[in-house]
Amino acid sequence: MTADVPTYLDGNAAAGALSEVFAVDITAAIGRCAGCGQTGVFAETRVYVDAPGMVARCAGCDGVLLRVVSTPTDTYLDLRGLTYLRLPTTP
Ligand SMILES: [Zn+2]
Repeated sequence: MTADVPTYLDGNAAAGALSEVFAVDITAAIGRCAGCGQTGVFAETRVYVDAPGMVARCAGCDGVLLRVVSTPTDTYLDLRGLTYLRLPTTP
């Protein structure tokens, strides 16, 4: 038996893939889970990179917040698990 090692990474692991989609660093953004309403910094989500594409799950309810799948020609971004994503405005 092995110890309970989490199979996920934190939201910072998503920075690379998401930098291809967003012009800003979203790991510092605040997101609200559409499932349980928990609000938190994106970097605190649970990111699974061994799924088809990349999946970020809520640390509160484990619901899917965000999915990113890249094909040779396109990137699919599914944000339906987020009520909103609040990005800091740079002055
Ligand atoms: Zn949640």
